[in-house]
Amino acid sequence: MFEVIIGLEVHVQLNTNSKLFCSCATSFGEEPNTNVCPTCLGLPGALPVLNKEAVHKAIMLGTALNSQINQKSIFNRKNYFYPDLPNGYQISQFEVPVVGLGELTIDFPDGSSKKIGVTRAHLENDAGKSIHTASSSQVDLNRAGTPLLEIVSEPDMRNAEEAILYLKKLHSIVRYLGISDANMQEGSFRCDVNVSIRPKGDTNLNTRCEIKNMNSFKFIEKAIHYEVNRHIEAWEDGIHSTEIVQETRLFDPERGETRSMRGKEDAADYRYFPDPDLLPVIITDEMLEKYSQIPELPDEKKERYVKDFGIKEYDASVITSSLEMALFFEKMIEEGISGKNAVTWLTVELLGRFKEGITLSNSPVQAKKLANIVKAIEDGTISGKAAKEVLDFLMETPDMEIDAVIEKLGLKQVSDDGAILEIIDGILAANQDKVEQYKSGKDKLFGFFVGQTMKASKGSANPQKVNELLKAKLS
Ligand code: ZN
Ligand code: MN
Repeated sequence: MFEVIIGLEVHVQLNTNSKLFCSCATSFGEEPNTNVCPTCLGLPGALPVLNKEAVHKAIMLGTALNSQINQKSIFNRKNYFYPDLPNGYQISQFEVPVVGLGELTIDFPDGSSKKIGVTRAHLENDAGKSIHTASSSQVDLNRAGTPLLEIVSEPDMRNAEEAILYLKKLHSIVRYLGISDANMQEGSFRCDVNVSIRPKGDTNLNTRCEIKNMNSFKFIEKAIHYEVNRHIEAWEDGIHSTEIVQETRLFDPERGETRSMRGKEDAADYRYFPDPDLLPVIITDEMLEKYSQIPELPDEKKERYVKDFGIKEYDASVITSSLEMALFFEKMIEEGISGKNAVTWLTVELLGRFKEGITLSNSPVQAKKLANIVKAIEDGTISGKAAKEVLDFLMETPDMEIDAVIEKLGLKQVSDDGAILEIIDGILAANQDKVEQYKSGKDKLFGFFVGQTMKASKGSANPQKVNELLKAKLS
């Protein structure tokens, strides 16, 4: 039996306005090579100046992960050649990163949890982008110099599930902190996965392979499965030590397999040395105090929802897993509806009606409106069943007001005592014999009277009111 060892390196693109060492904009999707200057082009004599905002955001993350913050950290040059790396080195942090040892807790669906160590988080600048066409290769340096926070985990994960839970949790923390848009398609949250195996019981770490630049949870899961099987097969064939070499691999989503890209370098190969153009980063006590103020995190929000709104722990974890959903839920609650109803109408009714391409942000029915549909149930204006029809209708015709939809579909419940009593009187008069039987002990007939009254009202009578009034009448 084998044990799987997984460690993750996540690159988060920080959403600062300008780049890490110059004042060029960081906006995505601009005309190639327009957001550039002598510094991020690596021209001789241009000097880097550190962007304070990036340090601030790194400290926020460190605070969220209960990490040690190093009040003095160093920028190093990581030397290698690549056409989209104009300086011939990346400015990164090596021995002394801004964020030191911390941890992140992952939660399993069965309610248990596990702490994953976070070795460090360091600041570095991104490279540009190479674009390969059939006839040429082109370089776009707009991204060169964009601030990245690289978050390195301990090799604490034992299967793909744990790795994905870690990544999703980290992704949501980053979004809650507001330090990155963490858009995976645009590469603002991407991950290198280190995988190795060992016989259960062993404590040494065997040769690992690194699957580079993954930006989809689904593909990461597939890549881990593929890589683990490859390692196990090599072990069982007795060729593990020759077949599994330290290397960088790429995942091919179409074939569902990883392929060798290049031998993986050791840190020594990069000839790290302190960047002579940059002073050590000093974080004063005042800065630390100020920068470690962070907004409410997913776990705190979850606890608060359970306590304040009486919802189930599982529901709370589903809702707080994404900031967008948590804020949607909070807006619904602001309308004064119950927590339980808000959960059901958000996670079951609304999300269940989403078609391809619809998300909470572009949903035809937004939080306030959805909450007001729920309110109409809670105050007895419409039945739960009618509310579903109202929501169906509004998903197609979002501009209409709820009252108008209820009116148009004829869904208004009659809750007015007088109107319901009138119907009840008619039913009782027409069924004198059954009234006698009921009064002499045939309790079951109560259901008959309720059914008749509802039928006579064509389903529009408020069932609760009907029950109350019938009880009073027949006692
Ligand atoms: Zn620049
Ligand atoms: Mn890196």
